[in-house]
Amino acid sequence: MYQQNSFNGADLPAKTLCLTFDDGPGIHTLAIARFLFENHIRATFFVVGKYAFHQPEILKELKEMGHLIGNHTYDHPDLPYYVSVNGDVINQVLRTDAIIKPFVDSGQIYFRAPYGKWSAEVAQELNRSMLTANHIGPIHWEIAGVDCYYWQNNWAVEDAAARYLSDIELNNQRGIVVFHDEIADMDVVKPHNKTLDLLKILIPQLLEQGYQFVRLDEIIPIKTASAEKPKFTLRIGKEKCVSLKNDTDLNCEGKPENPQNLLCLEELGFGKIAIKAANNLYLSSAEIEIKANRAVIGETETFDLIPVDKNKIMLRCYDGNYVGIEKGKLTKKAPHMRQAAIFSYANHNHMITDDIAWEQRLLLLKKQLLFVRSKLQQKI
Ligand SMILES: [Zn+2]
Repeated sequence: MYQQNSFNGADLPAKTLCLTFDDGPGIHTLAIARFLFENHIRATFFVVGKYAFHQPEILKELKEMGHLIGNHTYDHPDLPYYVSVNGDVINQVLRTDAIIKPFVDSGQIYFRAPYGKWSAEVAQELNRSMLTANHIGPIHWEIAGVDCYYWQNNWAVEDAAARYLSDIELNNQRGIVVFHDEIADMDVVKPHNKTLDLLKILIPQLLEQGYQFVRLDEIIPIKTASAEKPKFTLRIGKEKCVSLKNDTDLNCEGKPENPQNLLCLEELGFGKIAIKAANNLYLSSAEIEIKANRAVIGETETFDLIPVDKNKIMLRCYDGNYVGIEKGKLTKKAPHMRQAAIFSYANHNHMITDDIAWEQRLLLLKKQLLFVRSKLQQKI
């Protein structure tokens, strides 16, 4: 699920950093990953799908070294603007998912927005799809990743390292740090990327000062979100949804706002899912009528998830029959797709709209100020 407010590392203990790398994979990615590995640091690489597509061998090696691979969209668009011109943001993340999933163990996909640009509208749009329900994001940062601008302006590596050190100090010696192992959108700067040399100066100094490094999934709010299974309702029309009735029966008469009607999604890979109802039992097609009556997932508890539109889906049972609706009940009496029920998927978040917290506004402001400061210094 996508949050309106970004995840960050503000609550990390003192002298604790989480290193992240954006825009790869590229020619420097593996050298950076190996240098970190040799220093027992496990980082997260937010990759751009159009680069990752041609270089799966890099993703494989990143994973083998214990680094995480996250989603940074396919084409690296400015998402708030992209949404405003009807760009298909769901497609941007799903195309990258398809490339990185073989190299992601947890089932959760960590997401970072290009340039850190985010809006409530982007979150809402991405949350429309059941296929992005296992996403955790957006992941923001505290220590600004402007290494690419240093290289654009021919900064010396030593000066860039000093700036990162001072930014870390300014941020109370903790947080998520952004670097760029590759540079999207600025092809002319790519050959000047010196982030590996920067790390070779920075990391020994940080280690000497007693800094610890954690992987992204060790940050408590991110770890907590990762452990939660996505919750949703399956709507029929605008007012009704699939609902638990009696102990294990399901009907289509429920009210979406009733927490008892929340379902829990488990992705099984290969386009298959299992669905757990509020009684903690899985939906099963073992009988003609679909019921929530199984404690474990076997073949009758797996369903093919077939997307129809951004937020609409069909479900197909293990035996090839589709889930249909007959007399207000879910059944598998639908051998042909044209007989299948089309459900509207509604992420639990659709019912919760958080205001942006003041702390979050301050963090964003601070990041913008750091960015402006670095741009001003470039001009001196
Ligand atoms: Zn980026």
